[in-house]
Amino acid sequence: MDLLNKIKEAGIIGAGGAGFPTYIKLNCKVEYFIINGLECEPLLQSDKYLMRNKSDEIVSTAEKIGDKIEAVHIVIGLKEEYYDEIRALRESIEKLNSKVELHLSSAFYPAGDEQTLVYEVTGRTIPPGGIPLNVGAVVSNVGTVFNIFEAIQDKPVIYKFVTVIGEVYNPSIIKVPIGTSVKECIEKCGGTTVDDYVVIMGGPMMGKLLSEESFENRVITKTDGAVLVIPADHYLAQREKMTIKHMKNQAKSACIQCHYCTDMCPRFLIGHPIHPHKIMRAVALSEDNDELFKEALICCECGICELYACPMGLSPKRINVYFKGKLREKGIKWKNVTNIFEGHVLRDYRKVPTKRLISRLALNKYVDQQIEEGEEISPEEVSIPLKQGIGAPASPVVKTGDKVEKGQLIGKIEEGKMGSNVHASVDGEVIEVGQNVVIKTMQVEVIP
Ligand code: SF4
Ligand code: SF4
Repeated sequence: MDLLNKIKEAGIIGAGGAGFPTYIKLNCKVEYFIINGLECEPLLQSDKYLMRNKSDEIVSTAEKIGDKIEAVHIVIGLKEEYYDEIRALRESIEKLNSKVELHLSSAFYPAGDEQTLVYEVTGRTIPPGGIPLNVGAVVSNVGTVFNIFEAIQDKPVIYKFVTVIGEVYNPSIIKVPIGTSVKECIEKCGGTTVDDYVVIMGGPMMGKLLSEESFENRVITKTDGAVLVIPADHYLAQREKMTIKHMKNQAKSACIQCHYCTDMCPRFLIGHPIHPHKIMRAVALSEDNDELFKEALICCECGICELYACPMGLSPKRINVYFKGKLREKGIKWKNVTNIFEGHVLRDYRKVPTKRLISRLALNKYVDQQIEEGEEISPEEVSIPLKQGIGAPASPVVKTGDKVEKGQLIGKIEEGKMGSNVHASVDGEVIEVGQNVVIKTMQVEVIP
């Protein structure tokens, strides 16, 4: 079986983003194969863990993929302050006599944004609304590359390394079978240190804050990498409660048109025609300006404008998200009017240092938390979604009462449809098949 088929069979999707099927993404020929190890969201550690502990696997697999897609440059992007990870990767490169290169960035946010990373490595701006392929590059997360290493050994994606951090007694990086409840991950880390808390899936900037109801049912999927627990009265949690009406009223009454939101916008800085300050000005007057509001469609929702840049505490990002929804309802799409995009001359001076961002977000107390690693969860039950990324859901190939083994195919993507296969992450018995396949774990008898 060739590499792409192995990747497809193993159900690999982007481990760090929206979950695009990897066998489709890597079906290309490019100049640059870039492996994203920047994990730019503050506090996250899972990719660092992989680069430290699985460097041979990552380097050797990166080279295999690079050769497959005929890449001239195979580049792992990471931060210059990742001393242990740089050492581990350099040792692997030397040991394996590999042509993989390292690209070291300063610690800024959002260094790991795909478009920002491509710009840093190649000096090329991906056109707004475009993909790295438009400038001769393809980007995969280090977690995805590690999953491809496993796929080459015929092992499908059945677990994730997840950082659990914040208000938990034992912050840890744990190995979690797909479908394990988030609650169980928190319990594995000693439980919460505060009674009244909220959970963010992912990082503090772009992660999703779970409502009480969604927390009850949320399980770890192939795209999850972090669980952040913060007090319910934390600034980040409180901001989420603001209504769009309130945000618009604030824009009308308090926007001073300083345009810091635009000046610091990472997409504006790589040359995209996005100007959040203009949107904030326009929304104060009317919602009838689709030509301008269209710019919201090329916002990557990194949050710099509202969580870092704006001196008035306003919400350009969420106003953008609001207009994105409205424009999509109307069927309006982004269209480029030029092919020439150039990064801003002051871009390097306007990068947001991660440390300063952490202070601004009032997350300092979690930076120096001792992170334990090496633990694995053995859940009594897993609930594995048949759809975990972009595309159609997989069709179940098991039924209630079936006994399944870890790694067995339980959901198959139909021929001709885009999506990903799904596999059992534990040995057990299927007790429910719906949008998720629920498996009750069976203890395997150890024969002495
Ligand atoms: S969230 Fe704000 S800073 Fe980030 S891309 Fe969108 S407009 Fe720019
Ligand atoms: S940074 Fe804030 S106050 Fe300044 S233009 Fe942007 S939204 Fe308005």
